[in-house]
Amino acid sequence: MHRRGERQKVLIIDDTLANIEILHRILQGEHEVYFAKSGLDGIRVASRELPDLILLDIMMPGMDGYQVCSILKANPDTQAIPVIFITAMGSDEDETKGLEAGALDYITKPISPPIVKARVRIHLELKRRRDAMGELARELAEKNRELEILARADGLTGLANRRHFDQVLAAELKRALRSRLELSLILCDIDFFKKYNDRYGHLAGDRCLLAVGELLQDSFRRAGDLAARYGGEEFAVILPDTGVAKAAQLAERLRSGMAALAIPHAATGGLGVVTMSIGVAGGELIREGSPAWLIGMADRALYASKEKGRNAVTVVTG
Ligand code: GH3
Ligand code: MG
Ligand code: MG
Repeated sequence: MHRRGERQKVLIIDDTLANIEILHRILQGEHEVYFAKSGLDGIRVASRELPDLILLDIMMPGMDGYQVCSILKANPDTQAIPVIFITAMGSDEDETKGLEAGALDYITKPISPPIVKARVRIHLELKRRRDAMGELARELAEKNRELEILARADGLTGLANRRHFDQVLAAELKRALRSRLELSLILCDIDFFKKYNDRYGHLAGDRCLLAVGELLQDSFRRAGDLAARYGGEEFAVILPDTGVAKAAQLAERLRSGMAALAIPHAATGGLGVVTMSIGVAGGELIREGSPAWLIGMADRALYASKEKGRNAVTVVTG
C-alpha cells in the first residue's frame, strides 16, 4: 500500500522489450517503475511488490493479458490493484473482454507519451484516494468497536451495564423460550452499603464495588453467563441454559464468596464484614415470558433475603 511521500509503484507487463522501454522512459521520472516480460513473471512481481498500478499488454505468448488480469483479480492480495490494458487492438469486443476480466481502462498503441502520462497520473491519484479512504474506514471501524465495548460496560466495575444487561436478558429469554431451554436470573444487593459509605467514605465504597465486580467476574465464567451492574450497589447475573436449582447453588457460592472476601464493615451489627443478599428466579417461571416479570420475581426473592436478616439467598420457582 502507498504511504505518504513515497513514490507510487507502476508495474509494466509486456513481452516486447521496446514497449517496456518506451513506457519506462515516460514514467520513471515520477514513479517507481517495475517491469516483467511475461504474464507469469508479471503475476509474481505484482504479488511481491503490490504495485499501485499495472500496465498490462494483451497479446503475449503463453499467458495473455486477459488471463493475467483474471488471475490478479481472483487473488485477494492483488485484486484491488488497478489494471490498464495497453493494446494495439481497438475493437469494442476486445475492450469488453478486457473490462470483463477486471481492467479499469485502455490505452491503445501506438503509445502517446502525454496521454499515457496523464492517464497513469489520474489512476494513481484515484488509487491514492482509495487507499486513504480505506485507511479511514479501518480506523473508523476500530473506533466503533471500541465505542461499542465502552457503551456496554459499567464505568466503575467494567461489568456489563444496565443497558447491555437489558438487551442480553431480552435476547436470552427469547432464545430460551424458543429452544425450550432453562434460564435463571440472580439479583444481589450489598447489605448496609449506605452505612459502609457513611463510615468508610465514598471512595472506599467504590473500591468495595470494584471488589464485588471482580468476584462476580471470577464466579461466572461459563460461556453465555453475563454479570452486570444493575444499579448502584445491585448486581445481576444472567445464567442461560441453567435450572433454578443450579442457579441457587451458584448464588450460595457467591454469597459465601462475598463474606469470605472479608471486607471489614463494622456497622452491620453482624459478621463485621461486607455481605450481600441474593434473589434467584428462573426455571418454569420464564414461561411467563417478559424480562420485567422475571426481574420482578428475582427482586421479590432478594427482598425476602433482606427480610430474613440479610446475607442470605432466596429462590422463587413460581
Ligand atoms: P440494604 O442492606 O437494605 O441494602 O441497605 P443499603 O444501605 O445497602 O441500601 P440503600 O439502598 O439504602 O443504600 C444504597 C447505598 O449505595 C446508597 C448509595 O450511596 C450507595 N451507592 C450506590 N452507588 C454507589 C457508588 O457507585 N459508589 C458508592 N460508593 N456508593 C454507591
Ligand atoms: Mg439497593
Ligand atoms: Mg443495599
